[in-house]
Parts: sequence; C-alpha cells; structure tokens
Amino acid sequence: MVPQTVDPGVVARIVTDVYELCRGDDSGELADYIPELAAVQPDSFGLCLATADGRVYGTGDVTTEFTIQSISKPFTYALALADRGIATVAEHIDVEPSGDAFNEISLDPVTERPRNPMINAGAITAAALVNGRDPTDRFERIRRCYSRFAGRELTMNQAVYASEARTGFRNRAIGYMLRSFGIIESDPDEAVDRYFRQCSIDVTCRDLALMAATLANNGLNPLTHERALTAALTERVLSVMTTCGMYNAAGDWVTTVGLPAKSGVGGGILAVLPGQIGIAVYSPRLDTHGNSVRGVAACRALSQRLELHFLHVTRSARTAIRAAYTVAEV
Ligand code: GLN
Repeated sequence: MVPQTVDPGVVARIVTDVYELCRGDDSGELADYIPELAAVQPDSFGLCLATADGRVYGTGDVTTEFTIQSISKPFTYALALADRGIATVAEHIDVEPSGDAFNEISLDPVTERPRNPMINAGAITAAALVNGRDPTDRFERIRRCYSRFAGRELTMNQAVYASEARTGFRNRAIGYMLRSFGIIESDPDEAVDRYFRQCSIDVTCRDLALMAATLANNGLNPLTHERALTAALTERVLSVMTTCGMYNAAGDWVTTVGLPAKSGVGGGILAVLPGQIGIAVYSPRLDTHGNSVRGVAACRALSQRLELHFLHVTRSARTAIRAAYTVAEV
C-alpha cells in the first residue's frame, strides 16, 4: 500500500475554518445551577483536534482551564471497570440509553439499576465503585487516572467544587436513592462528594483532545506512551459513549456527527473517532440539553468536512473478505 502523506496545513485549515464558522453563534446560556459555573467568560471558544499518533491542531482558547464536569463520567467508569471488572460493574450499572435528562432521579424499573454510567445516577455509582484505602486515596486514584489520559497532572478547582458541594441537593437525592436500593453499599455522601470532586477537575481544550486521542489510540496516550486503559475496556467505554454520551440528544448526535462523545455543563465536548482522532471543543454557552451550542455545531462541521462519521464508508474501504475461490477455481 502506498503510504498516505497528508499536508498538515490541510487539517489546520479545516480546524480554523470550522472555528470561524461557529464563532458568531452566541446563542445558549451558561449553566448557573452550580453558581460558580456562571463565573466563566461566556465568549470563550477553543477547538482542538489530536490524532491517535499524537499530532495536535488547535485554535482559539485551547489553554483556558474549565471544569470537566460530566466529561469525567466515562473516565471514572473506565477506572471502576479496571478496578472491579466488567461483570461486577454490570451488576451495578446498566448500559442502556435512558432518553432522560442527565440528572434524572430514576432507576430502570425492571433492573432497579442506573440505566447507564453517563447519567448522574450511574456516574455516582461508578465513583462509589472505585478502589482505594480511604476517600482521599479513592479521589486521588481518579485524579491520577484522568491525568494519565491527558498526559499531564490535572488538579481540582476548589471554588467550583465548593459551589457544587453547597448546592448539589439533587445529586445527594440520587445518592440516597442509590443507597436505599442497595446499588451503593457504602456511604452515599462519600460517593457523591467524590463525584463533585471529579466534576471539578480543571482541564483545557487541549487536555480533552489528548484524552480523546488516548481513547482513539486504544487507551494508550499517544504523547507520553503511558497506558491509561486496556484496549478491551476502551472499547466498552466508547460503546457507552456512543449510545449514552450526549444524554437525551444522543440519537440526533449519532445521526449528525457519528462519533462516540461526552459533553459537560462546563462547556466542554469530547469526541472520538476510534483508531484515528480525538476532538475537543470548549464553549460554555449551553443548549437546553446541557450541551455546548458551538461545541455541537463545531463537531457537526468537523465531522462533515473531515468525513469522520463512524458509519461513513470511504471509497478506499475494502471488505475484510477480499475474494473467495473454490480449490477447483484456483
Ligand atoms: N456536576 C454536574 C452535575 O452533576 C455535571 C453535569 C453535567 O456536566 N452534565 O450536575
């Protein structure tokens, strides 16, 4: 096969074009149910793309820090899977899309489990399942796990954590519901507190792009070459992101963007083309689902221009079975 060489200028240009295309849209609202989230610069906008072999293309506010919020969910789920194994985690959290809002106070009526790890009920359960000597150690293991994906030491934003800890009654209600149904067997306050902390980890758009690229690269960070997750667990995490990552907009997202993804109310979106690319967008104005308005638009435009939809069949694609002959024909 002739190796394909791509002029890096082409990708950089498309990233800049998409950025310019989406920049004018100032619709949407900042999340303010966590008071500190409304303190960010509403016009911030960063777009970053990292390839599975570690090339990074970015434009705009790619080094501005913001809190990871729900984009933390696939990574804590990954750590819970690594700590407890797929079977044990599956006894606590299902993998079915819920069609509900992310903070729905509900369990599946039949299984009495959270429907998936991307809604708060499932994410708080995943946080409860992470191993560690004590609460400090359990959170530290989460922080280090995310840092391996990002390829640098990430830290928690104390102000955002304090703000959510002060106001997060709905998540506490979810924690107590989980405890009463026996899904969480430990102290629900501890699990919810860990969840608040993980949501308050600061990242940049570049960090998220590298976290996405690590998922695209089967769990191996393309820059540090550190393994953040096994290939088998990466596949499971990406599967759940595909069906549940964009909450009740998941169906629309898969049809128009076609990439496993996760969004957060901090304004970030992370999307992955397995084997190839990680994408991150930061723009804090949100639509009614809680997804970044420019983030969704930018991912749509990038997916179209770079032909990233995971069901898109390129002209050069070949079937796995190239030809079939009988012995007589040969
Ligand atoms: N910490 C936020 C919450 O639980 C995260 C929500 C989100 O990003 N969708 O409400």
